[in-house]
Amino acid sequence: MDTVTRGELDAFRATLRGTVLRRGDADYDQARVVWNAMIDKHPAAIVRCAGAADVRAAVTFARDHGWPLAVRGGGHNITGSALCEDGLVIDLSPMRAVQIDQHRQRAYVEGGATLRDVDHESQAYGLATPLGINSTTGVGGLTLGGGFGWLTRKLGMTIDNLISADMVLADSRRLKVSAKENPDLFWAIRGGGGNFGVVTNFEFQLHAVGPEVTAGLIFFPLAQAKTVLTKYRDAIDSLGEDVTAWAILRKAPPLPFLPLQVHGTEIVAFAIFSALKQDAVQSTIDQLRAFGQPVGEMIGAMPYAAWQQILDPLLSAGARNYWKSHNFATLGDEAIDIAIDYAGKLPSAHCEVIIALLGGKAGVPAPADTAYAHRTTPFIINVHTRWESPDEDAKCMAWARELFNAEKPYAAGSVYSNFMSQDESERIPEAYGGNYARLAQIKAKYDPHNLFRSNQNIRPSP
Ligand code: FAD
Repeated sequence: MDTVTRGELDAFRATLRGTVLRRGDADYDQARVVWNAMIDKHPAAIVRCAGAADVRAAVTFARDHGWPLAVRGGGHNITGSALCEDGLVIDLSPMRAVQIDQHRQRAYVEGGATLRDVDHESQAYGLATPLGINSTTGVGGLTLGGGFGWLTRKLGMTIDNLISADMVLADSRRLKVSAKENPDLFWAIRGGGGNFGVVTNFEFQLHAVGPEVTAGLIFFPLAQAKTVLTKYRDAIDSLGEDVTAWAILRKAPPLPFLPLQVHGTEIVAFAIFSALKQDAVQSTIDQLRAFGQPVGEMIGAMPYAAWQQILDPLLSAGARNYWKSHNFATLGDEAIDIAIDYAGKLPSAHCEVIIALLGGKAGVPAPADTAYAHRTTPFIINVHTRWESPDEDAKCMAWARELFNAEKPYAAGSVYSNFMSQDESERIPEAYGGNYARLAQIKAKYDPHNLFRSNQNIRPSP
């Protein structure tokens, strides 16, 4: 890493529309905060980019001076890969513009936009594209890893709705990628993460969704979890693409529709979503409810944008977080028993075990059609460990690791790259699966010196 003189840095600054923050600058400490409070990195400089030209200048600067480089979208990645120690951070958070072409049903989304930005603009036209379940997440990292949420069973993963992207590459070239232009790179960024360059703009296919959808939560006591989850697993094939239901094991939050005596007790909840009107899916909701005797529920018609933000209060920034995750080909009885056992001994009130459901349209492309390789995986269990005080680090992380290890024999042996934690680099081949070799070749073509390595890194291999 070159030492940079004040004159060189001033010259770099002068090429930008955005700003450069260094240690001692007023906004520096705030700019190096990411979603996960476990992360405490000190970059040498943070470039708050105002547009693609700034991104290009920052890539050139980091490359020419041999500085480590990181790219920040929404700053949500659990690993803190949005930041690097001592190097340069390309901070895309000022680049959040979203433009909608109502007639072509397209969204043009800058690389630092959040899910909320996209939903806000597209829902103004009754349109949406599949994104994730927490509205403050960045579109950038979510999309490049694959991206799934409430609309995925019906409309595919986020990458399945990506039409094109504008990129800045390691050699500072600007390139459009799509099925027709640079298709190898277009293939790679649909699941290969931030390994190949900076996306300054995404173009997404939109679909008519809402504004009113059917969604909500049904809570059961943890004592019923075995029956509830077994019936849930057995019913998945008959659920249909129009309905999705994720299962969450945790302590009940103090929600107004739950009786006071349920607050703080261990529960299993279904988060249920359909883009259809309630009448059309009432029988499926009734079926899911009948898997146990609920202790409370809130389900019905609501605006799509509101549902997209419904879990935000449980997922706010600033807590300490550690995740462990497995993909599952099916939810065996043993896997269910283990999840319930550990949900009965949560190390903090904010921890949860999330069973995310994919399948439906997410399973239609072949594993090699995009870089995201896990098309046949219907279930992802994410052990979402969350707590407040550093004093609880050891206890909470040990709980997550034990649960993860206990589940391992029953899991598929693969993982969603966006759910991996910072100490799991040995799992990178699991994350990219059968597509790893091709990804490494494309990496060698576009980033042979591995400039973009603050991510679940793919080593260039010609
Ligand atoms: P950042 O930390 O800013 O970026 C992560 C990495 O992505 C960067 O290191 C960089 O390599 C790359 N990157 C980001 N933007 C760009 C860009 N424009 N160009 C090039 N590279 C870029 N995932 C789902 O699929 N579905 C969910 O429902 C879901 N829910 C989540 C809920 C929470 C509370 C959290 C914390 C995460 C969730 N995730 C979900 C995982 C999420 O997709 C990843 O954490 C993702 O990396 C976040 O993207 P970001 O831009 O916010 O992250």
